[in-house]
Amino acid sequence: MSLSSLPIRIVLVATSHPGNIGAVARAMKNMGLTQLHLVAPQQFPHPEATARAAGADDLLGHAVVHQTLREAVSNCGLVIATSARQRHIPFVPYEPREGASIAVNKAHEGNVVAWVFGAERTGLTNDELAQCGMLVTIPTSEEYSSLNLAMAVQIIVYELSLAARKTTELPVSEVQLATQLEMNQFYEHLQEVLSGTGFRDHTADGHLMARVRRLFNRAQVDQNEVRILRGILSAVEDKRGVSGGGEA
Ligand code: SAH
Repeated sequence: MSLSSLPIRIVLVATSHPGNIGAVARAMKNMGLTQLHLVAPQQFPHPEATARAAGADDLLGHAVVHQTLREAVSNCGLVIATSARQRHIPFVPYEPREGASIAVNKAHEGNVVAWVFGAERTGLTNDELAQCGMLVTIPTSEEYSSLNLAMAVQIIVYELSLAARKTTELPVSEVQLATQLEMNQFYEHLQEVLSGTGFRDHTADGHLMARVRRLFNRAQVDQNEVRILRGILSAVEDKRGVSGGGEA
């Protein structure tokens, strides 16, 4: 299967050095990926990006620029974060090979898949990780685990190209994953219902919603399941008489 036929995008968040954006475009084109999305890049377009892209400057011309990560992944069924470090609420990290194989299978089933890379100095924030359902860490020396951004992308896209080569035509699942937009609508609905019932965040760290998001993102909820969850929330609202006003 060819990687270029799959809906897999690379998303770079708040990149500071335009040269890195060019180097990422080149790494992608080498492996047959074309969809580059940029979230609030510090400098783009930029001559240094074009120079480092070399023969991949067409990818820069087609790059989609977004204001927020949420917008960049709203139509994605699977959003994969990459990070050398664990953050506040730990994920169980996948190795690049496993992550690439899952990504290729989900993309083959028609789900848009995003791989998200953080800014050079700070990496991905907790809020950005909250948009993601999986975390991939490239194993490194314990002494120094942070790769150059474009080098990290190169390793991931190489693994994606190997995974695509290995993948023969698989039976395609009929139900696709819920998109990140649908999941965000579900989280907002859940938050409303929880507030309405007087449920309070009693976690020691005050990150209850982040943990709930992590739970559901990890579950890779499909389109039918998200409808069921929304239906349950609506039933709770009806019972409480939210639409009619006043307590049931
Ligand atoms: N100082 C930052 C490093 C950012 S490097 C931090 O500690 O998080 C820029 C980006 O490259 C990271 O956000 C991540 O997307 C990617 N990256 C670098 N090293 C990586 C590794 N070992 N595994 C996975 N991604 C990595």
